Amino acid sequence: MNKFFKTFFLLELLKGLSVTLRYFFARKITVQFPEEKTPMSPRFRGLHAQRRYANGEERCIACKLCEAVCPAMAITIESEQRDDGTRRTSRYDIDLTKCIFCGFCEEACPVDAIVETHIFEYHGEKRGDLYYTKPMLLAVGDKYEAEIAKNKAADAKYR
Ligand code: SF4
Ligand code: SF4
Repeated sequence: MNKFFKTFFLLELLKGLSVTLRYFFARKITVQFPEEKTPMSPRFRGLHAQRRYANGEERCIACKLCEAVCPAMAITIESEQRDDGTRRTSRYDIDLTKCIFCGFCEEACPVDAIVETHIFEYHGEKRGDLYYTKPMLLAVGDKYEAEIAKNKAADAKYR
């Protein structure tokens, strides 16, 4: 009998519609990505970047700590001595198809040269597109330096 009434008066359907109606007037929590974005931690680990000092000199001193610490072996570095006696990288590549975005490279770097930015909207259409070379990493750093510095400053007191 109970089943008959439930079926006859479409109670299950009405119950379902009441849920729809309740959520129709509730506060919306859906984010309209990409126009709207959720807040992001200054520690967010996205696309890598190589940074420069304000005078344009690249920060990286080719110590290779990041290469040594990388658990995915995604970083490849070659270095050479410049005419002024300083050592700099002649090659600095990150294979982002190997990278697990652990942030160890950033933690290990003594001069804050390699960092992970807030950028996560990037893609490659073939494997090689995600092989980031030194000029590519420096270009990301140059473009987003203001934001990188701001995030570093926000996180500094917790380090
Ligand atoms: S984030 Fe981790 S896995 Fe990726 S390059 Fe840095 S150390 Fe390697
Ligand atoms: S990015 Fe930092 S840790 Fe890696 S080689 Fe350069 S200075 Fe050393």
